[in-house]
Amino acid sequence: MSRRGRFAPTPSGQLHVGNAFAALAAWLQMRQADGEFVLRIEDIDKARARPEYAERIVEDLAWMGLDWDEGPKKGGPYMPYVQSLREPLYEEALARLEQANRLYPCFCSRSDLASIGSAPHGLASEGAAYPGFCRRLTARERAERALRKVPALRFVMPTGAIEFQDGWTGRQRFEGAVLGDFIVKRADSLFSYQLAVTVDDAAMRITDVLRGLDLLDSTPRQLALYEALGLQPPAFAHIPLLVNENGQRLAKRDQSLSLSFLRSAKIAPERLLGFLAAVAGWIERAEPIALGELIPLFRPVHPEHGHLIVTEPLLQWLGSSTS
Ligand code: GLU
Repeated sequence: MSRRGRFAPTPSGQLHVGNAFAALAAWLQMRQADGEFVLRIEDIDKARARPEYAERIVEDLAWMGLDWDEGPKKGGPYMPYVQSLREPLYEEALARLEQANRLYPCFCSRSDLASIGSAPHGLASEGAAYPGFCRRLTARERAERALRKVPALRFVMPTGAIEFQDGWTGRQRFEGAVLGDFIVKRADSLFSYQLAVTVDDAAMRITDVLRGLDLLDSTPRQLALYEALGLQPPAFAHIPLLVNENGQRLAKRDQSLSLSFLRSAKIAPERLLGFLAAVAGWIERAEPIALGELIPLFRPVHPEHGHLIVTEPLLQWLGSSTS
């Protein structure tokens, strides 16, 4: 069976060089392995996602030269490749979790949750661990509260250790109790990222998930969902984030680092590719490079401090040419 990877952007803003790096790495991993590459639009958060951004992301990826074997504009055997059109699958997964006794209604308000404090460093993708207030409610208390408030649904995390081998960052171990029970369906009836991504990666037969290190602590949560749903998990690899010389993540807010801006400034895609390859250390010096030339050069990188530092001169080089 051939390997299958994916890029799964959330269309809540424009693609910037940080996302472009994740897309490029996921694409190169599959092209080097002679695998298949899937594009999936993760527009499950209807308040944040916008169709215009999804359109723009598709255009930006095509401008970089990335192609996908399945996805928007292309179709494929696991259609649709847009999460907002896949809600029945998430509902069905919830029914299975419910049957397995792995869900409970949570009535906590935003301020109840704020009182828990914030997540420990490096465990930020779901906020602080939920201490399980609503898990301990009796059936009667639940029924009473349900008269006044629509609850969210939480998934019961296993409390023990969850370990996995990460393709880029090595052996990982998380304590389920430290991560806490997380939301799979919000009170406003939106499905959570953790649930949707797990259901879709499994349904689309994804064998390799490669994504940014900011999602590392999502992986044990997703592994717990795979287990509870009786699904086979993919291999995971988390790639370093791009940071500036002060160690700050290159922000989505910085318009000059959006692909739209680079395109409008007539920067050639080969220049962006050369920039990203130099940041990753796949080439020694930044120079424009064709996408195909990067396929054999792609390999995991392990920067000393966990992040890839984008120096000021390199940023200037990226923006310096109109060729
Ligand atoms: N949709 C998520 C994001 O844009 C990424 C999902 C994933 O790669 O697992 O942050």
